[in-house]
Parts: sequence; structure tokens; C-alpha cells
Amino acid sequence: MVRRYILILLLIFFGGCVTKKIIYNVYYVKPFDWYPKEKQDSTIKFFAPNYKGLKIFLDPGHGGTDRKNRGPAGLAIEADLNLKVALYLRDYLQRAGAIVNMSRDRDTFISLDDRSRLANEWGADIFISIHHNAPGKPDDIYTNYTSTYYHATTKDYEYDHSSHDIARYIQRDLAYAMGNSGGLGSFDGTYSDYWIYPKAGFSVLRKTNGPRVLIECAFHTSAYEEQRLIIDEFNQIQAWGIFKGLGKYLRNGIVTLSLEKDSLNLMKDKNLSILINDRNIGIDTTFYIAQIDTQNVPITFEINKNLKKLKIPLNQNLSAGTYELKVVVRNVNGNHSFPFRKKIIFY
Ligand SMILES: [Zn+2]
Repeated sequence: MVRRYILILLLIFFGGCVTKKIIYNVYYVKPFDWYPKEKQDSTIKFFAPNYKGLKIFLDPGHGGTDRKNRGPAGLAIEADLNLKVALYLRDYLQRAGAIVNMSRDRDTFISLDDRSRLANEWGADIFISIHHNAPGKPDDIYTNYTSTYYHATTKDYEYDHSSHDIARYIQRDLAYAMGNSGGLGSFDGTYSDYWIYPKAGFSVLRKTNGPRVLIECAFHTSAYEEQRLIIDEFNQIQAWGIFKGLGKYLRNGIVTLSLEKDSLNLMKDKNLSILINDRNIGIDTTFYIAQIDTQNVPITFEINKNLKKLKIPLNQNLSAGTYELKVVVRNVNGNHSFPFRKKIIFY
């Protein structure tokens, strides 16, 4: 009888240990184009013509006094994961010929305002904020997915099509590299930041000028994911996913717009003329958005072999003053033009 009780007690004791401490066998795949090193070099070389000279600003979230976000075992600290992935990404980008700047390259506190200000002052072509996620319920140690955020929604004036394009490309290859899905809230794993903060979004996406995205690589709060995130090699694979996603986006061509003349003489100019630089990919003339002070205006394309322009006929009733012009076009591969919002002055 006594022996039986001891056996039951032993079962409860060791059984309890097993259920309390879950040991995961973590699993990930080394991408075939990343390992061995020669494959990695040739992949970087393949994307290099598209990365060359591009100014990319990396923003590893948190850091310094802001280090409280961590995994359930206390091993993964979000601030450190963000920095590690960003530093590996910087290495890939620089090897591909991109010019990289960072809001921080070590464990230090940078305010949200400064992150955007530094990127804007530097004149970043593309801004990428890197984070790891946490669920609404603090005791949830299971939720885990990869998500990428763009600012505002398709219905908002603030929305930028090119940021959403970049988010889609990064999300697809990062989620694939990590072996994660994109969560329940969207089909492709990209989300508006209004989903988190309605009508406001994330500060770094709201205040940065150019194409900008914020990546939540995975949930550091997932007991399983935490075990992977603390593996250095896995952080490199995360960065590789971002590098390849952005590289594929760039291969489909970026489009930039510029005003032919900064200010206009209303008496003489009948058209507002905008130059299109599509890197010779070709423009899809079935799509455009053109607005003066948020009012839609018509445009005409003038596409020649050597010069691509669009013209906006000026309403001669417009009085002298300052207006905001917003234009979006897209190339034949579906990539939209970088944000173009300019103050125009009529004399
Ligand atoms: Zn974060």
C-alpha cells in the first residue's frame, strides 16, 4: 500500500515537471540560396544591380532603457533581436551595393520622433523598421506569425501604394524563410497600422516621408519561437528573407516622379508637367491618381522612348496660392511610384 502511494507521488512529481517545462525541438531550413556561402555570394550578386546606390534606412525597434519586451523564458529580448536582424540585413544590403544608415547600430535609446527625423534628413529611399511581436494577452505563449505593416488604409489620403508594395514583397519572403504564416487578420500577412492604432498608426510610419514599412518578424512571446529567435543562424535567415523580398520588389522596378518646374506662372502655364523615371520598365497607363488639395484631377500621359511625362491641365480658375499636389502612377509590373506629395505655388 505504502509503495503504491510512493509511486503515485513520484508520478505526480515527475509528471508535473514534464508538463511545466516544455522542451521544443526547434526547426528551420537553411535557404538553398544562402548556404553554402558561394550560393549566398551569387544570390547577392544577382540582386546587386537593383540595390546599387539605393539609400536604405534600417530602424531596429526599442533599445537602451527600452528593453522590457522579452520571451517567456526570458532568453529573447526584443530590442536585441531587432538589432541582430538589422545588422545582418545591413551586411547583405551593403554587399549588394546599397547605402545603409541605421537609427541605432548598438543598444541605445532613440526616440520615435528621432527615428523618422534621421531617415528624413538623410533622404532615405526606403525605410524599414524591424520589430518582434507580442500578443494582446500577456499569458499567451502560443500565438506566432509574421506580419508587415504599411501606413493608413487604401481609403486614406495618407496611404502610400509603394509602401504597401514593399510590405507585400518583404512579407512573402520573410514568412517563407522563417516558415511562418501571416496571421488571421489579412490574406497576405500585410496589415495597415490603423489595425493596431486606428486613425493614427505607428509613429515611425506616420512621420517618415518615403516608402516605409514596419516588420513584426515573429512573436518573441511564443515559447516555441523564442527558442528559434535566440539562434544566431536563424537571425541571419530572417535578415535573408527581408533582403530577398526587397530584392525581388526592386527587380520589378521603382518609379519616381519629379515636377518639371517647381513653381508655376498661372498666366503662361496651361499644364502642370511631371517627369516620370521608371528605369525603362514601362508605365501602365490604365492607372493613375492625381489630386490637387485632395480633389481628383485628370491627367494625360506623354510617353516617348526617351522621355516619360504626365500632364495635368490647370484649371484657370485656381487663384494664386499654395496647393498640395499628390500623384501616383505604376509600372507594368504593378509597382507604384514612390510617394509624391508636393507643395505647388501659383503666381
Ligand atoms: Zn517592438
